[in-house]
Amino acid sequence: MPWFADLAPLTYFTRQPGSLRAIGWLNANHGYAKGPVAEEDFARLCELLVDPWEPGGFTGSHACDLCRFTSGPTNVHFRKSSVSVGHANLFLPAGDVLFVAPSLVVHYIDAHEYQPPPVFWEAVRACPPMRSLAYKKALLAAGGGALLEHEAREGPVPSRWSERPKNVRLPPGALEAPRPATWRVMRIDDNGNQFEVARFATEREADDAAMRFEARGHKQSYWVEGVG
Ligand SMILES: [Zn+2]
Repeated sequence: MPWFADLAPLTYFTRQPGSLRAIGWLNANHGYAKGPVAEEDFARLCELLVDPWEPGGFTGSHACDLCRFTSGPTNVHFRKSSVSVGHANLFLPAGDVLFVAPSLVVHYIDAHEYQPPPVFWEAVRACPPMRSLAYKKALLAAGGGALLEHEAREGPVPSRWSERPKNVRLPPGALEAPRPATWRVMRIDDNGNQFEVARFATEREADDAAMRFEARGHKQSYWVEGVG
C-alpha cells in the first residue's frame, strides 16, 4: 500500500482537508517503529474499527505487503470485535488534526510489531463513540468540516458499505446519490507516480482485479476509485 511516515500530512485522497495526518501507512520498502502496545489500547482501537465512520469516496483496497506470502488477513478478531481489514480507514480526531489509519493498522500491530506513536493512543482513548454527535463535533474541531459536508452532499460510501448488514444509517436521499460511471484500478510505484491500470463497469470487478494485481507480489500498490 502507499507509504506515508507516521504523523506526516496524508495526501492519499483526492478531496481532503489539510489537517489529515497519516498513522500506520506502512509498506515493505520503509522501516517503521516497533515496540510494545497495551492490550487495552489495542482492544479500544479494534472497537473503533468495527464500523468506522468514513466520508464517501475515501475507500481503497489495501493488502499487507509485510506478510511474506499471504497479503495478510481480511478479518482480525479480538475479544468482541471483528474488524474487516483492507478497505476502511479510521478517522480519529486529535485536537486540531485528524489521524487517518487504514484498518490494516490492527494487523500491523498484531502481526508485525508495529508501534504507533503515543499521541495516536491518546486520541484512541479520548475518541467519542463512533458516529455519535460528540464524534462529529470532534471531527469538526479537527478540521474535518469538509469531510462532513461531502458526506451530507453525497451520502456515505454508496456501494461497498451498503452491502454491510450492520446498522449503517443513511441520510435522506443518500440512496439516490450519484454513482461513478466506471471504476478504475490505480497503481502507485515506488517513486510515488500514479497510473491508471484498467477500468471496469462495477466496483466489485475493479476490486477483484486490484486484488489479483496485488497478489502478483510486486512492490506496488493498487487501489480502486470511481470515475465520472
Ligand atoms: Zn501482514
